[in-house]
Amino acid sequence: MRIDVVSIFPEYLAPLRLSLLGRAQEDGLLQLEVHDLRDFAFDRHRTVDDTPYGGGAGMVMKPEPWSLALESVLESVLAGRDASEDKPILIVPSPAGEVFTQALAYELAEEPTLTFACGRYEGIDERVLDWAGERFRVRPVSLGDYVLNGGEVAVMAMVEAIGRLLPGVVGNPESLVEESHSNGLLEYPVYTKPSSWRGHDVPEVLLSGNHGLIARWRREQQLRRTAARRPELLDGADAAPFGRDERAVLRELGYDVVAGRLVRG
Ligand code: SAM
Repeated sequence: MRIDVVSIFPEYLAPLRLSLLGRAQEDGLLQLEVHDLRDFAFDRHRTVDDTPYGGGAGMVMKPEPWSLALESVLESVLAGRDASEDKPILIVPSPAGEVFTQALAYELAEEPTLTFACGRYEGIDERVLDWAGERFRVRPVSLGDYVLNGGEVAVMAMVEAIGRLLPGVVGNPESLVEESHSNGLLEYPVYTKPSSWRGHDVPEVLLSGNHGLIARWRREQQLRRTAARRPELLDGADAAPFGRDERAVLRELGYDVVAGRLVRG
């Protein structure tokens, strides 16, 4: 996968060169290109922002540097894409976007290229998104319901979540299967040696060597943890994947099955 990021703080993205994603780049699984928006602003001060029309606080990112930067990225991106492919995706981090989820990470991991446009100040002039929509599939995406100073931290989180789903990036692909959110549930608690530590013991079942019992215990823990911490993930969920034992746990946790869906009683 090729990922392009446009930002006024390209150095902010440096941690994406470390650890698993750094290795993925060395191994040629991921190509990361970071572009400085100011390289596309040509006045003496390389200005990328101006006051908002209509008044109000803060500054707005000017359209011209963005169009030039995105045109430049697009040229390189299209050179590596098949002409028959759909328009490339442009992700615009924004607290006013759709919320980033594991499902979206999986969807985006299928793309051959992703371009990210990091906003700062009060955001990017809206016309850039309209203009870009003729060239890209534009997706405004939010990391969550809070406001960051800029898109860079959101891009780091998204690139890490997407990058680790690319084939070969995580050593043991099994570890992706049982993770939180991979099946709509949170992950079960995990433990390592020693089996007894400062008066806290590892649950007996995990020492039993009985893989059937361990799998059943883990699944039950997933249900209990999800119901306690994120009950909205279970509300209305399809009941079909839950077997008899799991439905018994769900009933104990206050869920009924109505028309094939989980409903909190
Ligand atoms: N005035 C904007 C609003 O209320 O929607 C917020 C602008 S914010 C200070 C500056 C930039 O940070 C945004 O353009 C966006 O790129 C990024 N940003 C802030 N919060 C974010 C979030 N929750 N998810 C993704 N990006 C975010």
